[in-house]
Amino acid sequence: MAVGSGVENMPVVPASRVTALSGEGAFEVLRAARRLEDAGRHVVHLEIGEPDWATPPHVVEAAVRALHDGNTRYVNPAGLPALRDAIASSLAWRGMRAPSENIVVVPGAKPMLFYALLAVLEPGDEVLVPDPGFPIYPSVVRFAGAVPVPYSLDASGAVDSDRLAALIGPRTRALVVNLPGNPTGGIATAEDLRAIAELALRHDLVVISDEVYGRIRYDRRADSIAALSGMPERTIIVDSFSKSYAMTGWRLGFGVVPPPLVERVTTLVVNGTSCTPPFVQLAGLAALTGPQDVVTAAVTRLERRRELVVDELNGLPGVHCARPGGAFYVFPDVRELEEQAGLSTEQLAARLLEAHGLAVLPGTGFGPAGAGHLRLSFAVPLADLDLALERLRQFVSDLAVAPLTDGGVHVRS
Ligand code: PLP
Repeated sequence: MAVGSGVENMPVVPASRVTALSGEGAFEVLRAARRLEDAGRHVVHLEIGEPDWATPPHVVEAAVRALHDGNTRYVNPAGLPALRDAIASSLAWRGMRAPSENIVVVPGAKPMLFYALLAVLEPGDEVLVPDPGFPIYPSVVRFAGAVPVPYSLDASGAVDSDRLAALIGPRTRALVVNLPGNPTGGIATAEDLRAIAELALRHDLVVISDEVYGRIRYDRRADSIAALSGMPERTIIVDSFSKSYAMTGWRLGFGVVPPPLVERVTTLVVNGTSCTPPFVQLAGLAALTGPQDVVTAAVTRLERRRELVVDELNGLPGVHCARPGGAFYVFPDVRELEEQAGLSTEQLAARLLEAHGLAVLPGTGFGPAGAGHLRLSFAVPLADLDLALERLRQFVSDLAVAPLTDGGVHVRS
């Protein structure tokens, strides 16, 4: 049978709803990097955002025990009571309190972002999303039939409430904040948070507060917009075990959801996944109730890497890098390199991968304001970080002595 090339020949045409979704650059670059590795090349991976250390052993043991104990059946769609209780108690680090009934457990932060946005948006609503920001926000907003309105962050990745205020109109329904943020590592001062909360209150906005990096702050503070007066009623906190406890592949997250939405969000869980695997939830319970020095040690480890990577990047001609206040990403400004090389941001990232075996993300994958920047994860072993910096240094010094040809090859006279 002949294979058709156009949509008209396809037996099944994807609905416009799903074509509105976009992917995530990190997974695309990872795929390209794996292809190179399959062909025998060595690649340093700074593209994917996950801790390089293992899940704490007591967490793994709790999951194994839970499996042996038969925790392999459907459970309450909103989560095991013990885990919901532990999550509710753990909110204290954010300076807030909520009853366990407001907690909905899901397989990762991403499903909660999905459910939260689907639960509050009507078609045509406008949603303020950070730019540069996590690409899943505008993607899911579009999926819900709503309109993402990007707000730009300042140079350090912090939210500028004046810029935010200028974008609020009659259709604005929700605001997504991500502090510390991906890709910039930007954080907010207590004063910034108050200004954003005031805007949300004044304009009756729902706030989706993505706090997956909430415990990875180098000033050791832990603030949440949801802790401010009047905010718990209008804020959905989205969080997960992925980054704090090195549990990205376990798929365990949760939402702290205002009471009127709990039942609807839980119904979304029933429709989507029925429940979150109970042995994974019991592993999460061990993470939350076990020693918390696994988190503080991780932040100390990351801080050393942050110092190294920021200082080294700023030592490269044509590279300017802000020191992130949280998360484990740097987002250097490489516009001068691009100009020198005659390359776009995507081409620069592709060149680093193909010619130098260094996988990084082009900033453009995080919104228009990401142009001229690269995102590098420093949650990798120091040896990888050293090698990555060496490869970048080589690229920059080759560029200084010789331009690139159209084929992207350095030519020396
Ligand atoms: N939110 C942000 C800002 C992220 O960077 C990520 C992962 O990279 C997620 C959510 C997804 O987290 P999870 O793995 O828990 O779904």
